Amino acid sequence: MSRPIRAFINCAALRHNLAVVRRHVHQARIMAVIKADAYGHGLLRVARALDAVDGFAVLELEAAIQLREAGFSQPILLLEGFFSIEEIEAIDHYRLNTVIHCHEQLSMLLAHKKTGKPDIFLKINTGMNRLGFRPEEGNSVLNRLKQWRTDISITLMTHFACADDLLEADHVDQQLGNFARLEEKREGCIPRTLANSAAILRYPGTHADWVRPGIILYGASPLPDKTGIELGLQPVMTLTSRIIAVQHLDFSDRLGYGGQFVADQPMRVGVVAAGYADGYPRHAPTGTPVLVNGRRTRLIGRVSMDMLTVDLSGINEAGAGSLVTLWGEGLPVEEVARSAQTISYELLAALSPRVQTVSSIP
Ligand SMILES: *Cc1c(COP(=O)(O)O)cnc(C)c1O
Repeated sequence: MSRPIRAFINCAALRHNLAVVRRHVHQARIMAVIKADAYGHGLLRVARALDAVDGFAVLELEAAIQLREAGFSQPILLLEGFFSIEEIEAIDHYRLNTVIHCHEQLSMLLAHKKTGKPDIFLKINTGMNRLGFRPEEGNSVLNRLKQWRTDISITLMTHFACADDLLEADHVDQQLGNFARLEEKREGCIPRTLANSAAILRYPGTHADWVRPGIILYGASPLPDKTGIELGLQPVMTLTSRIIAVQHLDFSDRLGYGGQFVADQPMRVGVVAAGYADGYPRHAPTGTPVLVNGRRTRLIGRVSMDMLTVDLSGINEAGAGSLVTLWGEGLPVEEVARSAQTISYELLAALSPRVQTVSSIP
């Protein structure tokens, strides 16, 4: 048998979560965000399971081309646009949608003699201050684009900084106000996209023409006060491994690198084939929840590159070969993330390529 760590990807859960999104957004079109190898779940596997969506969003041109070549005919959006003028050729050839977020991109685009009908997402910075044109520049940029090509399709896009945080509702309102300021001066109706997962759940008024869910499709919650399960979502990734050795600690024995965990009584310890080189967070402290044979226990001692150690007190039947669930079904990834002082996004996206993934039949 090979090293026992596995990531199980439940394709039925992906479709269930898509249905949950659909119920929240009614008629808005859904652009599934499958950047970062679909948040660690596998680009093509996830795209196939979510084939019913209206569009996909990725970062790299290569990922977009992979989707097109696999036969997906939906709009595919490049969330950061292109990085050099050479990429515009391929965007045209593969009929991709691109974000335009800065003057450098705008100049490159306008210098290009496109043959196909361009379809761009004009990113407006309404207060996140990461990517996008200022709202007051928006209309002049729109005019330049329309002068360049009268047949151009444009969607206005913005991104919220604080949609997950109930205490920051004012910030969302400010961003909406800035977006609306651009729209007031404009003639005609231009499609809009604003909402990520958190805004889909918290701010129905932001759904507009396209929503851009990421994390909720994978069954994890973007909200600090609720888990995915509580939102009616199902976890898509379940990361499991097995105990490969058992140690018996006496009172005052120390465990692992740094020796920081000290046994306060004799105890059994399970050594699990999972470490930070697999994507398990090294900063997860003693006490982080783990399941052994489906029973809840805790991580103890420091996580090392290829192994971690768990408390087997009270789980007498567990031994070498016992199944260990690190997150997923039965143990929300949000709980592990909180314990490691990070977010579920980081844990899922950091799954190492060395972990073998197994998908349920789609
Ligand atoms: C990643 C991303 C999303 C998805 O965010 P979630 O919080 O995972 O729903 C949406 N829009 C943009 C621009 C993104 O970069």
